[in-house]
Amino acid sequence: MQTQKCKIDPQNIDRSAIVQAAQLLKDGALVAFPTETVYGLGANGWDAAACKRIYQAKGRPSDNPLILHISNLDMLEQIVHEVPKAAKKLMDAFWPGPLTMIFPKADAVPDAVTGGLDTVAVRFPSHPVAMALIEVAALPIAAPSANTSGRPSPTSAAHVAYDLDGKIDMILDGGEAQWGLESTIVDVCENPPMILRPGAITKEMIQPILGDVAMDPTVLDKPADGKKPKAPGMKYTHYAPKADVYLVRGTHVAAYINALVEQKRAEGKRVGVLATEESKTLYDADIVLSVGSRADLEEVGAKLFGVLREFDTQKAEIVYAEVFPYEAEGLAIMNRLQKSAGYRFLDAE
Ligand code: AMP
Ligand code: MG
Repeated sequence: MQTQKCKIDPQNIDRSAIVQAAQLLKDGALVAFPTETVYGLGANGWDAAACKRIYQAKGRPSDNPLILHISNLDMLEQIVHEVPKAAKKLMDAFWPGPLTMIFPKADAVPDAVTGGLDTVAVRFPSHPVAMALIEVAALPIAAPSANTSGRPSPTSAAHVAYDLDGKIDMILDGGEAQWGLESTIVDVCENPPMILRPGAITKEMIQPILGDVAMDPTVLDKPADGKKPKAPGMKYTHYAPKADVYLVRGTHVAAYINALVEQKRAEGKRVGVLATEESKTLYDADIVLSVGSRADLEEVGAKLFGVLREFDTQKAEIVYAEVFPYEAEGLAIMNRLQKSAGYRFLDAE
């Protein structure tokens, strides 16, 4: 299959490109498009066959449900059975934006979208290209991240093409994603509502709106027996570059990492370090990549997946990564980093 690539300026949208992409979606094709979080791989959410094609293109396990993307609240009425009170409060505060909510599903939503669950994940994105595409298609668009399953989510059209060129019909290239980490997922069917995946809308932002919000314990701990994450997708190894990633915590992190680097290089390994603007000059490794400044965790979130992919491009075999605080935006960053490292930590003295 030939993948058509189409550049589109989010500030000055070319309607004809949107109309063409929307027609492809109506015809059952797959279109990757930018959102404010990461690039999504879209299909008509009413079309079970088209949704199944998403799973094939990504190599995604069939029990990992998709998020339906909407561009107005009338669409929400069609796909959910009920709108819980907590959902109303959260949508007033954060929609359109990087927040997904889990609702009781309407009967009409195909099993291919929900993986057979009786709930459905819904998001109203704020990216102008995503909004225009959904509005013109006039369909809820089922879209997971537009990467090969298990790889870091794509924050640029080049990342999408690297993983899915030849497997999907079209890529709308709207430039770099703004947030760079996938949406926050909140299950509003639970009482109190529960964060299933941390993201740009932080617990600290949700708490004052709802009063009480819970956190799926597997957000930070390795899912163990009897402790399955409520978002099925969170149980898979994820966000992983080809290198083995280790997270290094403690006080003298740079000295500890440099000693490890020396040892691994002596064994003939190509070693990378995931550093920050503040620390990048401290390391002596084959590849040192900065994810931005510790003083700006939004920037770190935006750059993280691109940097993890860059370690692949530069053929790192082992990557040592610094860690971040488990609060505000840091929580989403650590959730993704822990998964990319398969929960391997090293303790520096
Ligand atoms: P992605 O868009 O690739 O980040 O994947 C969508 C995420 O939403 C995955 O982690 C799914 O497991 C999660 N998800 C989708 N539908 C549901 C649902 N009904 N209940 C819980 N989690 C869901
Ligand atoms: Mg994904």
